[in-house]
Amino acid sequence: MDCLFCKILEGEIPAERVYEDDQVIAFRDINPQAPFHCLIIPRKHIATLNDIADDDREVVGHMIQAASKIAQRQGFDQDGYRTVFNCNTHGGQTVYHIHLHLLGGKPMGWPPYQDTLKTPVNN
Ligand code: 5GP
Ligand code: ZN
Repeated sequence: MDCLFCKILEGEIPAERVYEDDQVIAFRDINPQAPFHCLIIPRKHIATLNDIADDDREVVGHMIQAASKIAQRQGFDQDGYRTVFNCNTHGGQTVYHIHLHLLGGKPMGWPPYQDTLKTPVNN
């Protein structure tokens, strides 16, 4: 399968791993948007949030719990952090293997969008 994150999982493309277990791995984002920014991915290829099947619910919960474990290890669990799933074009998804962004190490701000983005579109 021609999937960037499956290649990272297989070790075909290098990445700096920060966590792994039997269901997920996490590695640093190549273009970090915070002092700490990693991506948590399931070992199973799932293309988008729309493709999560009933059998996948456990691994998706596992991804979220992995985020909290990584935050704890990095030492910012109590200060707080941001987690993000992007889905398809409007969500800003660019890699079609689901991934949970974990950003920490500074206040993230809220809301995370610009005023102009509130204007509805028809597509
Ligand atoms: P998305 O936009 O799909 O939610 O997030 C994809 C993320 O993958 C982006 O933040 C991007 O910087 C990161 N990324 C893209 N290619 C690579 C890569 O080859 N290695 C790593 N470590 N991150 C990547
Ligand atoms: Zn994949």
